[in-house]
Amino acid sequence: MSAITLSHVSKSWGAMRAVDDVSLTADEGCLLVLLGPSGCGKSTTLRLIAGLEEADAGTIAIGGIDVTHLTPAQRKISMVFQSYALFPHLSVAENIVFGLRVRRVSRAERDQRLRRVADIVGLSHLLERKPSQLSGGQRQRVALGRAIIAEARVCLMDEPLSNLDAKLRHEMRTEIRALQQRLGMTMVYVTHDQTEAMTMADRVVLMRDGRIEQNGSPEELYNRPATAFTARFIGTPPMNLLRQGDHLIGIRPEHIRIVSGGNHAARVKAVEHLGADSIILCEIDGQPAAVRLDGFSRVQPGEDVWIAWEPRDEHRFDPVSERRLASTFKEGQLTASGQSR
Ligand code: ADP
Ligand code: MG
Repeated sequence: MSAITLSHVSKSWGAMRAVDDVSLTADEGCLLVLLGPSGCGKSTTLRLIAGLEEADAGTIAIGGIDVTHLTPAQRKISMVFQSYALFPHLSVAENIVFGLRVRRVSRAERDQRLRRVADIVGLSHLLERKPSQLSGGQRQRVALGRAIIAEARVCLMDEPLSNLDAKLRHEMRTEIRALQQRLGMTMVYVTHDQTEAMTMADRVVLMRDGRIEQNGSPEELYNRPATAFTARFIGTPPMNLLRQGDHLIGIRPEHIRIVSGGNHAARVKAVEHLGADSIILCEIDGQPAAVRLDGFSRVQPGEDVWIAWEPRDEHRFDPVSERRLASTFKEGQLTASGQSR
């Protein structure tokens, strides 16, 4: 039993409500991502789960036990921070087993667990090095190894990849996810990067100003954003939001086609060729919009084009509350499809 449940948890700093009535559950063995812009309360929520901050209100349970008033050590969790917080004067091996030493685990058991963990995180050949002799990715692996060797069922990670370059970030997020699944850990992973959330998570909790904006699977956040905020946050480029009459219409870049006989006029502003696809940045009725086309598009900046999308791909939001409205789409209402460019 290692599920995590927060019930109506709040935490303020003076007048600032960093975490405001948050309730969520991370199921046992699952990876839950806390996602949101800087300052929305992700780290505070994680630190509340870890016991590094005390909640003003609400309760926190881990594995069915109320841990709200327990110390971090009593909660039996491991944690990986953004700054790896390695001891510079200790070797990789010493850094990894540090926590076991503190807990007076026997030398024989330490060595045995170190060998296994070093193998898992791919550091077996670097155990004698000091942190200064490692690359960023290798240091990240040491921090991971230190978290894994504790054999805690619950692992909390706060933006652990933000100091790495893009390629390494990509590799490490795959590795962390594989490791979490292999060891069956319950993981809460904090990031502001929606790509990390979409690719790693079983469940995404999107936060905004200390509150939960939406809690769902990556697919749900992508296909059925509950608010315009979620729609704008998820996707690269994110969903286009167009004010049309009394409506706020959302349409994903990949759902727009450039066609002769489309029903909206657009002026092309810029074209980004990404190789596999092209992003056409254009303007529709003076509003910016992005269109994703397969392959190397020949559309030129300055061109006037016609665009179209299927009504079933439209998302509607209340223009004031920005909450999702029921779709007005009915089958058989498709736009005439023209010639795709
Ligand atoms: P995130 O991790 O999503 O960027 P945080 O949880 O770190 O956000 O912070 C949420 C809000 O609480 C921010 O406005 C931040 O400035 C504030 N905050 C966080 N920690 C403290 C603290 N120790 N003292 C005062 N304000 C804090
Ligand atoms: Mg943070």
